[in-house]
Amino acid sequence: MTPPAFAPRAVLLDVDGVLVTAWRAIPGAPAAVRTLRGAGVGFRLVTNTTERSRASIARLLGAAGIEVEEEEIVTANVATREHLRAHHPGARCFLLASGEAREDLEGVDWVEEDAEVVVVGGPGPEFTYDRVNRAFRMVMDGARLVAMHRNRYWMTDEGLRLDAGAYVLGLEHAAGVEAVTVGKPAPAMFEGALRTLGAAPAGAAMVGDDLENDVLAAQALGLTGVLVRTGKFREEDLAAAAGRPDLVIGSVAELPALLGLA
Ligand SMILES: [Mg+2]
Repeated sequence: MTPPAFAPRAVLLDVDGVLVTAWRAIPGAPAAVRTLRGAGVGFRLVTNTTERSRASIARLLGAAGIEVEEEEIVTANVATREHLRAHHPGARCFLLASGEAREDLEGVDWVEEDAEVVVVGGPGPEFTYDRVNRAFRMVMDGARLVAMHRNRYWMTDEGLRLDAGAYVLGLEHAAGVEAVTVGKPAPAMFEGALRTLGAAPAGAAMVGDDLENDVLAAQALGLTGVLVRTGKFREEDLAAAAGRPDLVIGSVAELPALLGLA
């Protein structure tokens, strides 16, 4: 056993690009999660993915050999539900998001007209000109703009795909407003996950493939940031970044050794 580079009490793991790509396990990811669990290191999966419910994510990860409980997954959808409950209770909301976003957003009053809040999540074919324009008009009429996240892109089998950030930025630009972001890199997303583990930022690590939204955002809160060279990782992003990750590893497969668990 090699001595650990650091020994966090809690580990937050991004999902897409760290554990899986297109819902297939990144080599070594199933074993890394098993090792964390076996060693009693508290962990949570913290993902900005909005098009899948937590139940779906747990099922898809299970099929990829990564055994996790629904309760171990923190999504931008769950963070958005908490944000809407706290800041816009009972508000009429319009949802611009692809897939199953609504499933973990129960209790929200969804409307197609005259919304008080416009919620933007991960894009897909539903993002027609008509729906994006509808969102724009509601914001112009005074609706608050809430971004489930503002990621730039994500990696799929076909290559990079444009993510929610372009739409959020476009709506902000066109309507002259600033959105509230609830997913990573917002502090509430990391803090919420750590709270469920009873861990403080100083004793925790965040492992991600997104330098800005996962790693540097977590480091700003006092967590140790670990960047993986999988998923959306690009060498030129690392070179051009304003900040440096605390640690860089080839993939999550190297995490157990980094923690002195292998
Ligand atoms: Mg990722």
